[in-house]
Amino acid sequence: MARIVAKFGGTSVGDIERIERVADKIKREVERGNEVAVVVSAMSGVTNQLVGYCEAVSPAFDEREYDTVVSSGEQVTSGLLALALHKRGIAARSWQGWQLPIYTSEAHGRARIERIETAEMEKGFKERGEVAVLAGFQGVSFAERIATLGRGGSDTTAVALAAALNADRCDIYTDVDGIYTTDPRVAPKAKRLSKVSYEEMLEMASTGAKVMQTRSVEMAFKRQVPVQVLSSFNEDIGSDMPGTLITKEEEIMEQYVVNGITFTRNDAKVTLQNVPDTPGIAADVFGPLTEANINVDMIVQNVSPDGKTTDMTFTVPRSDLNKTVDALKGAGLSDNTKTADNVSKVSVVGIGMVSHAGVAQTMFQTLADKGINIQVISTSEIKISVLIDEEYTELAVRALHTAYGLDAEDAA
Ligand code: ADP
Ligand code: ASP
Ligand code: MG
Repeated sequence: MARIVAKFGGTSVGDIERIERVADKIKREVERGNEVAVVVSAMSGVTNQLVGYCEAVSPAFDEREYDTVVSSGEQVTSGLLALALHKRGIAARSWQGWQLPIYTSEAHGRARIERIETAEMEKGFKERGEVAVLAGFQGVSFAERIATLGRGGSDTTAVALAAALNADRCDIYTDVDGIYTTDPRVAPKAKRLSKVSYEEMLEMASTGAKVMQTRSVEMAFKRQVPVQVLSSFNEDIGSDMPGTLITKEEEIMEQYVVNGITFTRNDAKVTLQNVPDTPGIAADVFGPLTEANINVDMIVQNVSPDGKTTDMTFTVPRSDLNKTVDALKGAGLSDNTKTADNVSKVSVVGIGMVSHAGVAQTMFQTLADKGINIQVISTSEIKISVLIDEEYTELAVRALHTAYGLDAEDAA
């Protein structure tokens, strides 16, 4: 007997027919004698619609009420899946985050899970042979308000529950059959990875591979939860099917230098022209941004030709661009500020970079050959990111995929 947490994303529970198919899969896990907790997302499109309702009433909404609204999509799917299981003669009950409870921080709209109490759910397994169906994406703050975990947060619910239940497996069922070398919807030659390390998946998620929420990978890494990413549209279940195992680096034999190419279109570029080239200027610029809770990502400061003034360029989340301009104004730094939001960030990720030279040069040369200008560069030990014109995102991703030898041989 194994204890399994299985999470189904929005497309996988997108209509009644799909919920029925999920129920069939769960039935088969139960028939194998496994204890099963299911985590569900809202039906695809529903969370976007709910966010739209909040914005329509008030763009400056109270985030506690926003959470009340946007958490409701998962309540619906958890109840429907429990009903579909009952129809198959399987004992099941739905759980909302506040019922378990899953305690979270007060950061509404992007709350962190602080503690999960599983005693009641475990009683359900042991005493009533019950499948637990948990609404993803939400918990209850210590102030007893419903709090959501940020977009894509059901992944984090699933991994956190798997850790709390000490589950044998956490299966993430989605609309692709695993983690690919890049988004398979952008590069048809993308290859499925049979295994990927926590470290690489963390970099891939945080640089744009939305297949797993970044926090869920962070949590899996910290708590060493073995996670499999699987297709919900395949007839098989759990360990019988091909997918991707996210695991410890030591368990991965075949290793490419670069394992993943990712991209985001969520950044905006800010350039401050002619700032004085004096000690303390970086602190003067970034201090007010930190105070305004704005996360600065990439930074370049040019050398000043005359030793007096220089240009400074950095990126912020696109959604924070107005706030950034306001903060710079407030600090008296807004003269000669240029902003652009038609940029994208393309990254290459791979643990092999630590021991191989020339990875960055391959990236730069490949982009140069395509005539793509690099606006900003940033690196970490296992990642290189460049900021480019948004228009060239897909061209860059495909060219880099080929350049690092990642193309699937048999793909069109
Ligand atoms: P769910 O609704 O199941 O949570 P998401 O839409 O959040 O699913 O994530 C799955 C999507 O992630 C896929 O449809 C795919 O387009 C995208 N994706 C981006 N990068 C990758 C990658 N490297 N491997 C697989 N899928 C990726
Ligand atoms: N329904 C939420 C969202 O769309 C959470 C999730 O799907 O993981 O962001
Ligand atoms: Mg998702």
